[in-house]
Amino acid sequence: MDNLPRYSSLTIKRLLRSFDLLRRYGTARKIDNLLRAEFSYRRREVEVRHLPYLFRADPTTRCTLGCPYCWRSQKPPLPPVDLSPETFAASFAPFASTCLLVGFQMFGEPTLNPALPQMIEHAHRTGAATYVSTNLQMPQHETIDRLLDSGLDLLTVAVDGANEATYRRMKPGGDFALLNDNLQYLFDRRRQTKADTHIGIQVLVTAFNEPELPAIGALARKLGVDYFDLKPTALLPDSSWLPRDKRYRFDTYRKRNAACAFPWTNITLLADGNFFPCCAHPGQFHLGALGDLNAGEFFNSPPLQDIRRQIKTGQLTGLCAGCELNNAPRF
Ligand code: SF4
Repeated sequence: MDNLPRYSSLTIKRLLRSFDLLRRYGTARKIDNLLRAEFSYRRREVEVRHLPYLFRADPTTRCTLGCPYCWRSQKPPLPPVDLSPETFAASFAPFASTCLLVGFQMFGEPTLNPALPQMIEHAHRTGAATYVSTNLQMPQHETIDRLLDSGLDLLTVAVDGANEATYRRMKPGGDFALLNDNLQYLFDRRRQTKADTHIGIQVLVTAFNEPELPAIGALARKLGVDYFDLKPTALLPDSSWLPRDKRYRFDTYRKRNAACAFPWTNITLLADGNFFPCCAHPGQFHLGALGDLNAGEFFNSPPLQDIRRQIKTGQLTGLCAGCELNNAPRF
């Protein structure tokens, strides 16, 4: 167990990954905006003079796995909606000049939206790096081909067990044999096509898969992953899911005060076309669409300023008060 990576929001590997993306996508304007965003967050400014450098898009609210430690299983269900490529293109355009990374990941399984590769290609054409997190449960290898052909930069695969029984407990709707078949195909195909996609494996560590971490690590090495992330989980259903090793317990890393950086660094496009500040469960809350506002006006709209003020003062109400991430470390 000791030679496994410890969770940290700031590992050397993560830094190198970030520097590589900055080198490839960081124009002077984007880097200037990034620095101003980080400075503004440090000062907890309520009114800001920068734009988000991270753009998150939720390709779909649909998922078939029913993981017990997911927002989807613990909060009221969201209606099934897919993000259209037209809505993505129109909503992303005002933020494109300062955006470094577009993450296609939120509530659903992104690859269930057949337009995902089209949206990745679009983000690339505007000069942004792209990221997808997937359960790799697609029934057709063609879905993997299209992802690798889209120019995707980072692909994280959730591998939350080393055998059928554990995988089923972690991901009740998942198929362990299909995961293994698709993993092999994904890495073989990347080798054949020399695709430039960096592929990593992520494990959300719980008491049930903790004993299998060495086996998952060995699989990752055999496949030739570019990164292997073991992460604590904020939304465990009950204490029987708590890992024994404190390194993988979410509470180990909690800050004393509200420290969420999302309202300074990120903007999220929900699958229904409304904006949202972060990656928490939206419930009934959203920021609406841009309408007649420009990106700067929208990023300083009263609801966003109010959320920044709440985090600055620690007086959390509404959305942020009920959020498990308000005093989480930065991911
Ligand atoms: S504290 Fe939670 S709800 Fe509030 S902005 Fe941060 S992640 Fe979103």
